Amino acid sequence: MKTKQTPPERSAVSIRQQRYRQQMEEAGFRRATLWLHQNSKQQGFERGLRGESFSPVPEGLDQLSYCTGWLLGAGEQQMPIFCTCCQNQLGHGVARDYYDLFTMRPYELSCDECVPLIKAEKK
Ligand SMILES: [Zn+2]
Repeated sequence: MKTKQTPPERSAVSIRQQRYRQQMEEAGFRRATLWLHQNSKQQGFERGLRGESFSPVPEGLDQLSYCTGWLLGAGEQQMPIFCTCCQNQLGHGVARDYYDLFTMRPYELSCDECVPLIKAEKK
């Protein structure tokens, strides 16, 4: 016997996920599935974490998996954070937040003392 069911209430998580998906698509992203070879990814991760170059990819490893692992590992490195203006060290942080991972050049970052000076200079 068929009973009429009301559709289940959409959960807050489901609504949030749909919004996120919509935002990403509007920003030009497309969701895709990647198959990553775990050993290749792990070897790339360890080399990235040690701060070593990602190339050459060791023979016999899956390149996409290896490079994905390398990027994740390189991003996890603990790196000093410097003010790009006065060069004072501001502490440490994970590389992915403060450095371009391919060049290991720090992103522009100004300390609290330099920000007002830079603003005054621009006037
Ligand atoms: Zn500074």
